[in-house]
Order: sequence, then C-alpha cells, then structure tokens
Amino acid sequence: MSVLVFVEPEDELSLQALALARTLGEVRAVSIEGAYAPAAWAQALVEAATDAEAIVAAGSDRGNELLAHVAARLDQPFAANVTAVAGDTVTRIRWGGSLIEEARLHGSPRILTVAPHTQPAAEPVAVQQLSLAADADTTVRVLETVAESSGGVSLRDAKVVVSGGRGVGSSEAFAIIEELAGLLGAAVGCSRVVTSAGWRPHTDQVGQTGTKISADLYVACGISGATQHIAGAKGAKKILAINSDPEAPIFSTADYAVVGDLHEIVPAISAELRRVRS
Ligand SMILES: Cc1cc2nc3c(=O)[nH]c(=O)nc-3n(C[C@H](O)[C@H](O)[C@H](O)COP(=O)(O)OP(=O)(O)OC[C@H]3O[C@@H](n4cnc5c(N)ncnc54)[C@H](O)[C@@H]3O)c2cc1C
Repeated sequence: MSVLVFVEPEDELSLQALALARTLGEVRAVSIEGAYAPAAWAQALVEAATDAEAIVAAGSDRGNELLAHVAARLDQPFAANVTAVAGDTVTRIRWGGSLIEEARLHGSPRILTVAPHTQPAAEPVAVQQLSLAADADTTVRVLETVAESSGGVSLRDAKVVVSGGRGVGSSEAFAIIEELAGLLGAAVGCSRVVTSAGWRPHTDQVGQTGTKISADLYVACGISGATQHIAGAKGAKKILAINSDPEAPIFSTADYAVVGDLHEIVPAISAELRRVRS
C-alpha cells in the first residue's frame, strides 16, 4: 500500500504517526512550509495524494484539522486518533479516551490520524516539501503564534505539570501554584472552571477541550477529577492529587493522594523544596 504521511518539522507526534504509517505500507513523507492555512494545505495534500491508498497524519490539533479538510475535499470518511489498523478495521480512541472503538474504515484512500503517545517514534525520514497552488485558498491562515504563558515550559511537553482547579480560589491565589511550578521547573496547568472564571488563559487548560499532557508527574491541586479533565491528565505517568475532600473522584485516578487544604500543603511543599536545596 502506498501511504502519504504529513509530517511537521521536529515534531514527536509526526514521528509517531510515521511509525504507524510504516506498518501499512510504503511511506512517502511530505511537509508544507510557511503560514498554516488549512484549506490551502489540504488542497496541496490532495494534489500530492493522487496514487496514495492511505493518507496519515499525527492526531494533533493541526493533523486532525488538516485531514478533516482533506476528507471533505475527497468526500471520503476520516478516522481520527487511531491506535492500530488491521485490514480495513481501525482501533481508535473516542470520547476523550473513555471509549476504545473498533470500526470499519471504508473509502479510498483511507484517511486517518494517529492517536498521540500510542506509538514509539520512528526514525526521521527524507521529507518532500509541497508547494501551495497559486490560487490556493488562504482566507483562513495563521498570522501570528503567541507563546503560552507557562513560564517558558510548554504544557504539552513539560516533564512536570502543577495544576490548579476551583479549589485554588482566585487568580491571585495561583501564586502558590506558580511558585511550586517554578521550583520544579514545571508548567502551570488548570481546569476548565479556572479558565471559565478568567483566572488563567485557555492555553493553560488541561483536558478534553484543553491540552493533553504526557508529563512524568502531574500535581493536581483543588481539582475534583471530572472525566473531561482526566482525559487530558491521564497521559501523565504519575498523578499526585491534593484535595480537601477525601471522596474527590480524582483520588481514584491518582497514584499519590494528599487530603487537606492546598493553601497549606502547596506552600509547605515549596518550603521543603527550598530547605533541602539550601
Ligand atoms: C464538553 C465538556 C468539555 C469539558 N472539557 C474540560 C476540560 O478540557 N478540562 C477541564 O478541566 N474540565 C472540562 N470540562 C468541565 C468538567 O466537567 C468540570 O466541570 C471541571 O473539570 C471541574 O473543574 P474543577 O475540578 O476545578 O472544579 P470542581 O469540580 O468544582 O472541583 C473543585 C475541587 O477542589 C476541591 N477543593 C476546594 N477547596 C479546596 C482546598 N482549599 N484545598 C484542596 N482542595 C479543595 C474540592 O474538594 C473539589 O474536589 C468539560 C465539560 C464539558 C461538558
């Protein structure tokens, strides 16, 4: 099978997509330079895919958006967040990770994205740069990228994330979360209640409609553990939850549990870190 794979430069998720694509057949990796414009980039991919039997990309926001445009242009079905392919059956992650679905993927070419962090990264391969057509639709395009406000550590790639929920209480009270994150070299995260209240920007939100993290350690402070939040946090290898309610749902997911007031516990952890380091 000939497989067209869309990859982005220095992108771990693209290398993971490449790994799954290689199990399908002969891979041709392509990329596109310049400002991201979903309709124009999809057109370039469609033009490059004339003899492709499958089109694959990473299950990132961009990969999913781009292949949705490709599928619409080709009038073919699209399976997002696939973890395995056997014949015309795909296994894919749905509902923020609470459902694993096996589905028949009809259509030609097969169009799919690969669920993040479900494959080992492949070795990089030679990548062909595609050009946009002169009449490409660039009505919607990225003009500027604004850095996340997580102290320079990206939420998605951070090894440690310290996150606060409604229990933190206010925007100002996030100072203790930021302090602990600074001491751990961590990114600051939060729940949707916090972004809805305007205490933190949406870029800090962990969850189904926020960022899906893959940290070694996730410290959840004053977060109840709603399924939509856990959908973004469960990629963490270890979860430490600090919550005053011993019945909080997050304790059923956490590896380490501290029952108590975060306003006492978080500063105490920071003070202890300073003490052992001095
Ligand atoms: C379609 C959809 C998508 C969603 N997407 C997301 C998403 O991406 N991310 C997300 O987070 N949510 C998402 N939500 C919202 C989600 O359902 C929850 O409402 C939200 O996660 C709850 O946030 P929270 O845990 O901060 O607040 P709460 O559920 O109110 O929990 C606050 C916790 O703080 C504890 N607490 C209070 N005071 C203290 C204290 N002093 N010390 C210690 N603990 C304390 C409480 O015991 C409680 O457990 C989504 C919902 C929907 C319907």
